[in-house]
Amino acid sequence: MVIESYPFRWRTRLRRHLPWFLIDLGLADKGDDCEAHGGDHEWYNADDVVSACYHCKIERLGQLWKRVPAAGDEGL
Ligand SMILES: [Zn+2]
Repeated sequence: MVIESYPFRWRTRLRRHLPWFLIDLGLADKGDDCEAHGGDHEWYNADDVVSACYHCKIERLGQLWKRVPAAGDEGL
């Protein structure tokens, strides 16, 4: 016999498991380090002293958000 309620149950299970599942994979969370994946950080002003990246968890001391990326700077 075919169980007609199967798709419904699948969606219920998906909704119940998806949030932590994605976070666990790092898809719904910030990345670990842009530079480690060949990218660049994009800084924002965390507290006027520390710069934090929009895309990953890296934070650095200094007002890096004021720095405009220049051609030829840091290998790019
Ligand atoms: Zn970053």
